[in-house]
Amino acid sequence: MIYLDYQATTPVAPEVSAAMQPWISEKFANAHSPSRWGREAAAAIEVARKQVEQAIGLPGGRLAFTGSATEALNWAIKGMMEKAPKDRNRIVTVATEHAAVLDTCEWLEDRGCDVVRLPVGSDGLLNLDEVKAALDERTALVAVMLVNNEIGVIQPVAEVAKLSRHAGALMLCDAVQGFGRIGVPKGPDLVAVSAHKIHGPKAIGALWMRDGVEPAPLIHGGGQEMGIRSGTLSPALCVGFGAAAKLASERRSTDHAHVERLWGAARDELGPGWAINGSTDHRYHGNLNLRREGLDAARLISDLRDIAFSLGSACASGSGRPSHVLRAIGLSDGETRSSVRLGFGRYTTEEELISAVRRIEGAARAQQGLAA
Ligand code: PLP
Repeated sequence: MIYLDYQATTPVAPEVSAAMQPWISEKFANAHSPSRWGREAAAAIEVARKQVEQAIGLPGGRLAFTGSATEALNWAIKGMMEKAPKDRNRIVTVATEHAAVLDTCEWLEDRGCDVVRLPVGSDGLLNLDEVKAALDERTALVAVMLVNNEIGVIQPVAEVAKLSRHAGALMLCDAVQGFGRIGVPKGPDLVAVSAHKIHGPKAIGALWMRDGVEPAPLIHGGGQEMGIRSGTLSPALCVGFGAAAKLASERRSTDHAHVERLWGAARDELGPGWAINGSTDHRYHGNLNLRREGLDAARLISDLRDIAFSLGSACASGSGRPSHVLRAIGLSDGETRSSVRLGFGRYTTEEELISAVRRIEGAARAQQGLAA
């Protein structure tokens, strides 16, 4: 199989599985118990916490582990809105955010919050004048992602954070697709990240909080994470996340150069007839979201079962709904159904990528009755 679905999830790094191994088998103690074994697990978790904090690279603040980035985003949004003053009832977000943000905002909207969903241009990018116009003294929270999971475009997070601060609002950044791949810009008050997008294990995420910023708890119980997030932590998952974060920091420039090479090679290989969805310049180049007129993308995916790639996003693929991101950049339903997402990175070889692109090209042409 050729794996080209790096935005859905990434292969676990060998260094990560090696680091996790003892914590899956012999080191089973509860990190919250006072025994020597418990303290050893707690110490390993603290090392992992530092590694993730260092990879995020923002000054000060603290980091709480969560069960996923989805949980971290739910927690940040619901927990901050619960604490917001009554006259600051507005959340400003973007039409192209992940469902973990959009559906949480919708849930709060049903309970009386004012939610503004900013549009994006045909390049997928925010217009800062529109951001500025939406922010006023009623705004409590601004939620803008760093790298879009479907089209890879990079939003101007540092500038949005500045505008938010100026309006007296807090800013939450969903950095899931940017963390470990491009740097997390300075400015946000809350940052959500996930391990499985950086070659770490699934089912662990984290919320970084600027000093003095603390959402009300979402999950109640034993108060294991600083009294504000309950549930017994998994040392294996935390250690795996830490190892993945450390590796991402160490390999940042090597990974970046590799992804740039792959992007160039894939683009050189593509024949005419393909358009790239979203900005090519303000983009993480490990994401190639392509459209071809008249293509039945779902059929293309089932024709090429040994290549793993996606329709718009993994979530949109499952639901059968047209992608809200592709719609937001102005594509018709037909164009949305003619779009595929190729995601590649650290462990993708140039040969694999070129061979996959050739086969995608050939299958697309065959589908449309063109000579291969
Ligand atoms: N935000 C973005 C941009 C994502 O791509 C994802 C994962 O698909 C998430 C949030 C949710 O992350 P998790 O799988 O850790 O819940």
